[in-house]
Amino acid sequence: MNLQAKADKIGLYCHVPFCASTCDFCAFYQEKPRRQDIQRYFDCIEQELLKSGITRDIDTIFWGGGTPGLLAAKDLERLGKAVQAVCRGPVEEWTVEMAPSVVKLDKLKVLKDLGVTRISMGVQSFNPKLLESLGRLHAPNQIFQALERIQQVGFDAVNLDLIFSIPGQTWELLEEDLKQATTLGVDHLSTYCLTFEEDTALYVKLSEGKITRDEDQEIDLYKRTWAYLEEAGYAQYEVSNFARPGKECLHNINTWKMHEWLGVGPSASSQIDGFRFTNASDLSAWQEGVEQGKPAYQERVPLDDTILATDTLIFGLRMNQGVCLNRLKERYPKMNWACFNAFWEDLEAEGLLTRQSGLITLTQEGRLLADWIGTQLLDLNT
Ligand code: SF4
Repeated sequence: MNLQAKADKIGLYCHVPFCASTCDFCAFYQEKPRRQDIQRYFDCIEQELLKSGITRDIDTIFWGGGTPGLLAAKDLERLGKAVQAVCRGPVEEWTVEMAPSVVKLDKLKVLKDLGVTRISMGVQSFNPKLLESLGRLHAPNQIFQALERIQQVGFDAVNLDLIFSIPGQTWELLEEDLKQATTLGVDHLSTYCLTFEEDTALYVKLSEGKITRDEDQEIDLYKRTWAYLEEAGYAQYEVSNFARPGKECLHNINTWKMHEWLGVGPSASSQIDGFRFTNASDLSAWQEGVEQGKPAYQERVPLDDTILATDTLIFGLRMNQGVCLNRLKERYPKMNWACFNAFWEDLEAEGLLTRQSGLITLTQEGRLLADWIGTQLLDLNT
């Protein structure tokens, strides 16, 4: 993706905050759907999109949540029309997240007609016991049925999300999940190591000692997963993301490269026109803000070269292609680039990073430490 060509276009993220129940690991903002909330949500999304005054071309759209796929076919259509109303030209990629238990043919047909190109399905595991321990509602046979329907309607790309390092999950059990996922004919897989976020049911169980976390096993599972997926023809392009050639998620790459995007819906974040801001993670507060023309932000930060350069490094280094320091220096001339020099040397000496003509890339060992490297970069930036 050419930085200059990309500069005028933006991504559009739409947060649909409804879920049938709360998964035990989930820290995303979501609510149980009530009919009156859904109606008011649509009214407000339409207003928020119109009031955003977007004049830029939108080249990628992502509906996340929550569970966008939980909406009825006619509601998906209404949301799609609202989004289309602010798109001035063709959209290159349009992703909708769906949970296996809510994938129905009528919904898929509406999405296809709207121009959706990519379905991302939260599978997490194919093992019934592990699914139960995550508090997921679906059964393995629903995953296969959902995928059959998705493939029947036909989308350009399909992603499956998997979680690993679930308490009780050995490598053999994870290998079964990977084997299943890679034989289903999908072209993108996201694999996330289970995290224990505060205020989740799993975090409570961890604090009570009912489950344990094994960091050595996590590293082992990371390495084995990466090797397995490479062997199966899925190239890693980011710490947690793997794709067949040409099937990488453009919307996420846009975000990781710190280009611009607009987020609508409660808890959605935006980065646009010199500011980064996050809508209130509360349906009522967000709705009142939109209705009164006074957006309720939980955070709004003016952007400068130091913030953007550091974040471009943090997210860019998670990608296998790495980052070109020469280009970033042109893009963010006011950043004090020298503050990272000693750190790059240390990482290189430890075999965690390679440097070649301005391009810096993490090695596999480095990518395993990407979170730690990110926190170091935040500490060092001045
Ligand atoms: S379906 Fe997704 S957003 Fe909803 S509770 Fe589960 S993980 Fe969270």
